[in-house]
Amino acid sequence: MIPPDFRQSVVDIVGAAFVRDDAGALELYGADALKRGHPPDLVALPATTAHVSALARLCDYHRAPLVVRGGGTGYTGGSVPVHRGLLVSMERMNRIVEIDTHNLLAVVEPNVITGDLQDAVERVGLFYPPDPASLRESVIGGNVAECAGGPRAFKYGTTRRYVLALEAVLPTGEVVRTGSKAVKNVVGYDLTQLLVGSEGTLAIITQIVLRLVPLPPVQSTLRATFCDVRDAVAAVDGLLRARVVPATLELVDRDCLEAVARYLGASLAPEGTGAVLLLEVDGLREAVVEESRRVEEACRAAGATEILRAASAGEREALWRVRREISPSLKVISPARLNHDLVVPRGRVPELFDLIERARREFRLRIACFGHAGDGNIHVNIMVRAEEPGEIERAHEAERRLFEGVVALEGSISGEHGIGFAKAKYLSIELSPATIALMKRVKQAFDPHGILNPGKIFPED
Ligand SMILES: Cc1cc2nc3c(=O)[nH]c(=O)nc-3n(C[C@H](O)[C@H](O)[C@H](O)COP(=O)(O)OP(=O)(O)OC[C@H]3O[C@@H](n4cnc5c(N)ncnc54)[C@H](O)[C@@H]3O)c2cc1C
Repeated sequence: MIPPDFRQSVVDIVGAAFVRDDAGALELYGADALKRGHPPDLVALPATTAHVSALARLCDYHRAPLVVRGGGTGYTGGSVPVHRGLLVSMERMNRIVEIDTHNLLAVVEPNVITGDLQDAVERVGLFYPPDPASLRESVIGGNVAECAGGPRAFKYGTTRRYVLALEAVLPTGEVVRTGSKAVKNVVGYDLTQLLVGSEGTLAIITQIVLRLVPLPPVQSTLRATFCDVRDAVAAVDGLLRARVVPATLELVDRDCLEAVARYLGASLAPEGTGAVLLLEVDGLREAVVEESRRVEEACRAAGATEILRAASAGEREALWRVRREISPSLKVISPARLNHDLVVPRGRVPELFDLIERARREFRLRIACFGHAGDGNIHVNIMVRAEEPGEIERAHEAERRLFEGVVALEGSISGEHGIGFAKAKYLSIELSPATIALMKRVKQAFDPHGILNPGKIFPED
């Protein structure tokens, strides 16, 4: 619990205008997209690494919990201060420090909005590929802390691949630098990659050096519809056998299509469609033409009922609409849905769909699926009608069954969203006691007093 003079010490560090403890702020900063919030005692808005370091030192001294917040779009409660304490919102540290067109890199403060960075680098012919669907609200620091993925991960990889170096503040207040601006660096342990995906539990990231790539000159968007999700999965397999690596390869299943149709009052796919694949290929013109041809061929061979190719930016937007409307549609239909990001090795996606079908039948639930078919990463939404007796309990049983199932398929219970507090109790389904113990020793080395983001990743005793 924070001591009486704690507030004044925080004011001394960041200034009174940047300390909030009114009820509205505590509610706002206490929740993320999981919608299971918990208010902090106090919110501080630092502007510099020195501020962050002083705040960490203060919290460590008082053994007060410190939780870092980026854009607040996490799906597992990562930035929710479940043990109260100080919520440090990085929103004032939002500058693009440098875009180095010669060395193909960008230096940014943590709270640069991902989409803003993409726009800025594209203006100079460069490309920052990681594209979580939340890219207009989430920030680079949050993306690094969660190792965010997105539709383009199939060809370009996740956030991890683009992080070259970090400046970070340890929970004890020391400032460390990891990695360098060079694309090769093998000196000592790779602390940069340890911090990527550490969910704000090891250090507070205050600056990030990101690798950029040249902007692909041409892009082509296609949409293929199928009677059944299995045909769509077969098309993905055919594409890979044809050695095509689309930039994106997104799948939408029948339940999602129905949810979108209900939400919009009109269907976006032809009658009888059971699955949609959205594909984008990018690169040099000749390659894009050839790859688009191979994509069409593979989709046709797998039984596509319709293939559309966008001829303009407007048409591209129209083809993507079905994918963009999924989240709002599912939210409206089932506000209490359980939303998971299961992942299996690509070749085992058909078995993942068998697993989901068995869960649908056994637990009498609607389970709507969409996601990154090329990565084997499927967003599985267990729809819950809160008013239906016993449905939430059945949904949780189905959830556990699915987690056990993906691990048996050599996959993982989370490909993108992390563990936070929402999935902490399921950690041991995937990790052995020895692995968990090792991770806890790593945590202890960074955070000897356990003040940084307590209650996350590891189940609480
Ligand atoms: C509509 C929607 C679509 C989404 N689509 C995707 C998707 O396609 N792919 C995907 O991977 N995720 C997706 N997400 C989940 C979410 O956007 C990502 O996890 C994102 O990376 C979180 O970033 P954020 O800035 O909002 O972080 P927050 O939610 O603020 O924080 C997330 C975690 O990062 C930590 N953190 C934040 N900033 C720092 C920092 N500077 N230093 C250390 N730790 C920090 C926090 O403590 C917390 O543990 C989606 C979410 C929504 C709501």
